[in-house]
Amino acid sequence: MKNFQIIRALSSGSAVTNISKEPSAMFIAGGTNLVDLMKKNVVVPDKLVDITALDLKKIEFGTGQVSIGALAKNSQVAEDKSIKEKYPLLALALAAGASQQIRHMATVGGNMLQRTRCSYFYNTDMPCNKRTPKSGCGAIGGSNRMHAIFGASDSCIAVHPSDMCIALAALDATVFVEGPKGKRQIKFTDFHRLPGNSPEKDNTLESKELITSVEIPENNFTKNIHYLKVRDRSSYAFALISVAVGLDIKNNVINEARLAMGGVAHKPWRLTEAEEFLKGKTVSEETFRQAANLSMKGAKSYGDNAFKLTLGPNAITEALTIAASK
Ligand SMILES: Cc1cc2nc3c(=O)[nH]c(=O)nc-3n(C[C@H](O)[C@H](O)[C@H](O)COP(=O)(O)OP(=O)(O)OC[C@H]3O[C@@H](n4cnc5c(N)ncnc54)[C@H](O)[C@@H]3O)c2cc1C
Ligand code: SF4
Repeated sequence: MKNFQIIRALSSGSAVTNISKEPSAMFIAGGTNLVDLMKKNVVVPDKLVDITALDLKKIEFGTGQVSIGALAKNSQVAEDKSIKEKYPLLALALAAGASQQIRHMATVGGNMLQRTRCSYFYNTDMPCNKRTPKSGCGAIGGSNRMHAIFGASDSCIAVHPSDMCIALAALDATVFVEGPKGKRQIKFTDFHRLPGNSPEKDNTLESKELITSVEIPENNFTKNIHYLKVRDRSSYAFALISVAVGLDIKNNVINEARLAMGGVAHKPWRLTEAEEFLKGKTVSEETFRQAANLSMKGAKSYGDNAFKLTLGPNAITEALTIAASK
């Protein structure tokens, strides 16, 4: 591990100023992903700006929305009584991630910016366009059981690993950031990006921007919700496929639906066509199966991950069925 300097910022303004002074400087929050990457020399910052002292830990309920500070811990959000009541899909998705100990360290902002779990990305002896642009992709034609079936490119087939972000995409969240050019907001579904020819870039954040909070509008997805995570072990494992479902059901008819998938693309994969299809339909397994089949349009496998083409529609059907039965 390379030597580095670490300084502690006391305001978001000074955090941004300090990080802007050094091209390779990075923010550090819980450190649960960044420190692993530094130990393996996947990232080699000369300077870390510790942001854990910033006043960005609050969960604030306003009229029509909740604002969650970027430094709120994953466990703090998952266990918050009002989050469980008003945004239970978010609480469920968070609780499905990592382990209790990691959730105690991990922050909301850090969770959004965690890097892919593609094993080639973490192994500096292997080619990886995301780690070293233009070096090739070890996973295409290699070991790719965890990899993408939607939106991949010839440069990268990695998936975004977060559980929390799948719920935030389904719930139409907005990300608030502050950077050298000032403050701005980004729609959550526009925050993460597809790899295209530049897989080294995971998201639409500009250089040296700090995530300050995430806002979720109030909604009616408080009862018929589910987060289904299919993984190799029942704890401490990333999703092979996950499905976040929110249904607003009145008299057995679906008023509104929200659906997003994890473990299938370089970003949380929102299923808008299936959402539209479900609107106004009576709850039935046949309807859910049709929505699931619609969701798989354009899916493509790369060898080891071919099982996701069958697992995907089954997981969507099951998640919808469980959500509707609550
Ligand atoms: C063994 C293990 C299992 C895991 N399993 C899961 C799982 O099943 N599901 C899941 O979703 N996650 C899982 N995780 C990932 C975990 O959720 C992330 O590591 C964690 O959320 C990252 O948060 P952090 O605060 O520790 O981020 P850090 O490691 O501190 O930072 C991560 C990145 O975000 C940047 N950053 C942090 N905060 C900000 C900010 N406010 N603004 C701008 N940049 C920022 C840092 O510069 C860094 O690049 C697992 C992790 C481990 C180690
Ligand atoms: S899939 Fe992406 S992250 Fe994995 S080796 Fe290929 S370029 Fe790297």
